[in-house]
Amino acid sequence: MPYAGVIPRYREWLDLPDHTQTISLLEGDTPLVPVPRLAEQMGGGFRLFVKYEGLNPSGSFKDRGMTAAVSEAVGRGAKAVICASTGNTAASAAAYAARAGVKSVVLIPEGKVALGKLAGALAYGAQVVQVEGSFDDALRLVVEISRKHPLALVNSINPYRLEGQKTAAFEICDTLGHAPDWLCLPVGNAGNITAYWMGFRQYHEAKGTGLPKLLGVQAAGAAPLVLGHPVEHPETVATAIRIGRPARGEQALEAAQQSGGRIIAVSDDEILAMQRLLAEEEGLWVEPASAAGLAGLAAEIRAGRFDPKDKTIVAVCTGHGLKDPDAVLRRTPELITVPPRLDALEAVVI
Ligand SMILES: *Cc1c(COP(=O)(O)O)cnc(C)c1O
Repeated sequence: MPYAGVIPRYREWLDLPDHTQTISLLEGDTPLVPVPRLAEQMGGGFRLFVKYEGLNPSGSFKDRGMTAAVSEAVGRGAKAVICASTGNTAASAAAYAARAGVKSVVLIPEGKVALGKLAGALAYGAQVVQVEGSFDDALRLVVEISRKHPLALVNSINPYRLEGQKTAAFEICDTLGHAPDWLCLPVGNAGNITAYWMGFRQYHEAKGTGLPKLLGVQAAGAAPLVLGHPVEHPETVATAIRIGRPARGEQALEAAQQSGGRIIAVSDDEILAMQRLLAEEEGLWVEPASAAGLAGLAAEIRAGRFDPKDKTIVAVCTGHGLKDPDAVLRRTPELITVPPRLDALEAVVI
């Protein structure tokens, strides 16, 4: 059978109501890319893979959950979906709403959304509303309006989002033949780490695939789960995880703890350095937030808090680099310009 997306592929593992009507862009089935040169840079002696989620249809892992949330909503007759977003959820909701032929409304924090994400939401035809406030303010508003009006809420507090997102854990086990020893990933609103843990546990109970330890990584300027309290004004270049009140914070802490792992924070400089290293050493360009998991792994190894010897480690890279071109252009010096002559070109290249 040709590949038809994560719902048909894993239907029996997903807790979705019977009325669910699959709306798919053939999301999922993303590659688990070995990154041996990066592993060498971190000291070597272990197997390191990137789960390259930027290759999903709208450019982030959000598509896994969105196919499930929109399929459920449309199946019960919803004519419009709404979400608050730091960007990728907006683009994804807009894409799946377009696919389903329903309206989408997305709320974004004013001026804080990366260019490629905003452009995506607009391209797919969403009604985009900027909120003078943070992501957390936007989330509060969509919860309130969806209680009063027939707008299906597709943020990750929607339980079907997690059902879809846990398919990434299934794919990793199916590819490796077992769970990795460690899974590293960025943590923002904390839906993804919660979903991975659900997925790994479900597969392990049914198939004995083993359980990974989870290393959840926040940005230092937006690290409520590390600090132990909400952050009123979260700040980080990694806009996808610029969240001060994670909706699934409790579950994320529980997942990390149950797994024998932990949640840590890294600085923006560490995130950007890792984004660059991954692109220049391995040819994988991801958005800043997506490099946080690897940056956290590198920091733990460097500090001697983690011995990777002989381990199999998977880092989830959640979104594509094209989502946030500014993050690269900002650090790039002025481009070299030459007149259209060979000698001029040779002078700068050779
Ligand atoms: C949404 C998102 C995250 C954070 O995921 P949560 O489920 O909110 O923890 C990380 N990286 C990217 C690229 C995202 O879009």
